[in-house]
Amino acid sequence: MPELTRYIQPRRIFTPLGGLEQHVVVIKGERFDTIISASDAPDEVERYPELDMWPGLIDLHIHGREGCDVIDGKLSSIETISASLLRHGVTGFLATTVTTTWPQTIAAMRVVGEAYKLRLPGAQVLGGYSEGLFFSEKHKGAHNEAFFKPLDEALIDEMIAAADGALKAVALAPEKANGIAMTEYLSKRGVRVMLGHCDANYDQTSKALAHGACGGVHVFNGMRGIHHREPGCAGALLLDSQALVEVIADGIHLHPAILQLIYRLKGQQKVALISDCINAGGLKDGEYQLGEMPIVVNEGIAKTHSGSLAGSTLTLEKAVKNLTELAGIPLHEAINMASLVPATYLNVAPELGSIEAGKIAHFSLVDDAFHIHHCNLFGQAVF
Ligand SMILES: [Zn+2]
Repeated sequence: MPELTRYIQPRRIFTPLGGLEQHVVVIKGERFDTIISASDAPDEVERYPELDMWPGLIDLHIHGREGCDVIDGKLSSIETISASLLRHGVTGFLATTVTTTWPQTIAAMRVVGEAYKLRLPGAQVLGGYSEGLFFSEKHKGAHNEAFFKPLDEALIDEMIAAADGALKAVALAPEKANGIAMTEYLSKRGVRVMLGHCDANYDQTSKALAHGACGGVHVFNGMRGIHHREPGCAGALLLDSQALVEVIADGIHLHPAILQLIYRLKGQQKVALISDCINAGGLKDGEYQLGEMPIVVNEGIAKTHSGSLAGSTLTLEKAVKNLTELAGIPLHEAINMASLVPATYLNVAPELGSIEAGKIAHFSLVDDAFHIHHCNLFGQAVF
């Protein structure tokens, strides 16, 4: 069968460098082929004069949506999350676990490993992310400390084996016993270490970064913040030019001035917008469960009964909107933080993360109010 060719002329095409007007994206089969001037477009061009074309977004840290959670340990849950994400322009994600019992964690990792090998009809599972178990009590957030585990090579091995090649990142508190040794061990085994839900001070965090840790879990949230005599985990993450920081830009987890501060210190290259969305995402306010932890969602804000923020109900296109509106960050840079930056972190940027010749054609068409009108996977409209 000959490859289908599509010509699409949106109002602006968001490449990593900015919004390109008066141009047409040519898609051949599953991939972007080239970008041509609108004056060279053939008759069959699809025109969307009021919509912008964004690359498919990538969410590095998401637990659930629409009543389903990765920690359920069911393929059907991952499928629901995956389908739900398309409505928000998200075409790839790291299926993220939360603290629960060890057998449930291993069961969930097995299912993530299965989903990773499938081509789902929704957002693709780009791997698994373990958030939980290896944290310190002081900044546990919505993680139940009753299930916390020591940092132990045998446990790490079991998790890596269960995910069968899919485990891309593990979050841990580096000040725990064995923290630095396990950081080195995970890095050697090709698993990224993200620091968070920890009470690590500036020196301990810097040491973990020097021993292979890649960055920080939702920076400032669930970690030691910045004090002028003890710059803390957040200070070390922000000053290390190589460290990637996850940012929850829902307007609640971080003050707009802190969004600005992060951006000025990290630039766009080392900030990944994440949703940290839980199973309440896409549903009404009410009572939910995050792993073993009961959660109340009120006006979209998820909290534990003790008042700790417990993930979010955020979606990535809203995070992009918030970053531009709350912190004045240029739109194309905010889009990059939710597409090319996470793709680069996952080492999949040659294939994914931007509208560039040769990459897989995951993209969406977005209006001025940041609503997703069409989401496309592998060159085909799916939503
Ligand atoms: Zn967290």
